[in-house]
Amino acid sequence: MDKRARNFASDNNAGICPEAWEALEAARHGHSPAYGNDSHTARACERFREIFETDCEVFFAFNGTAANSLALASLCHSYHSVICHELAHIETDECGAPEFYSGGSKILLAPGNHGRIPPDAVESIVHRRSDLHFPKPRVLSVTQATEVGTVYPPDALRELGAITHGLGLKMHMDGARFANAVASLGCAPKDITWRAGVDVLCFGGTKNGMMLGEAIIFFDKRLAAEFEYRCKQAGQLASKMRYLSAPWLGVLKDGAWLRHAAAANAAAARLEEGIRRLGAGTVVYPREANSVFVRWDDAVITGLYARGWTFYDFIAAGGCRLMCSWDTREEDIDAFLADLAEVSASGEDRSAEIPVMRH
Ligand SMILES: *Cc1c(COP(=O)(O)O)cnc(C)c1O
Repeated sequence: MDKRARNFASDNNAGICPEAWEALEAARHGHSPAYGNDSHTARACERFREIFETDCEVFFAFNGTAANSLALASLCHSYHSVICHELAHIETDECGAPEFYSGGSKILLAPGNHGRIPPDAVESIVHRRSDLHFPKPRVLSVTQATEVGTVYPPDALRELGAITHGLGLKMHMDGARFANAVASLGCAPKDITWRAGVDVLCFGGTKNGMMLGEAIIFFDKRLAAEFEYRCKQAGQLASKMRYLSAPWLGVLKDGAWLRHAAAANAAAARLEEGIRRLGAGTVVYPREANSVFVRWDDAVITGLYARGWTFYDFIAAGGCRLMCSWDTREEDIDAFLADLAEVSASGEDRSAEIPVMRH
């Protein structure tokens, strides 16, 4: 078996799911108005309104960094600040794009167990300073599912939402893995978004099995005013918009998005169970979505890399991250576990001979 066929580096290493591909193919022929004035885009927006059971404004961007940054920029003036978890993607992995697009809004970091922001952290950060020399807190940004593969349950989000709005702030959700969170919680999408106080959601398509694309969904429609100008200025307005929006029609139809997310979550569950059964390493966060974080000796990491497996060993300061995707197969996991059993039994002697692969 080619081990490299399915790997554990990231869910953005996976290919395109059939539903997205077929929807793209179906939109291939003919002429359509440009810049989002086409019927595919209109229907995709309508599907989001149905799924969230509310009226909302929907926009499409090429990737998550743009979606998050532009959404935050639309909520902030340059003298505002955004509170997020210290491991949040907007802080650690977006090259300062949120600060750049907002014209200088500062990111304020909150600590919290398992990648989640505790409600009292929001209050203490907001109350820490109230003078005009400090950038005024304006937004709470939460990641669902979190960077360490946990989820916020609906009641935790409702509590955060109430505190956030009580303090006069807006709430943003980075949902690069929103589908995995919904599949994990088995809740209605509205229960972890607008009903909990989320004003704007960045809903990830890429890691759910699309070729590319994220949807920016404003539940508070007033906040979407002139957002299309922001997208255009940032180079995020697709002229052939239908090819960004049509794949959404495929994945949002008949629950494909949830099936793919549930498959990725189930793969991670199988992986975690296997690692625990072998007693090979320590699982470091509760596994609630499609990733497993494990602490291994260097010899084990080296041995796995030497056998062709890939995974990140630098994410979230917490061991190695094994990320499952919509297309991860049981045989991929079983082959990985078989190799893990061997490398963890074989001792440390080989580690000196093989260079450790870093990404
Ligand atoms: C992948 C990811 C994003 C988006 O990243 P891009 O590479 O810009 O598409 C945003 N937030 C989180 C938590 C992610 O994991």
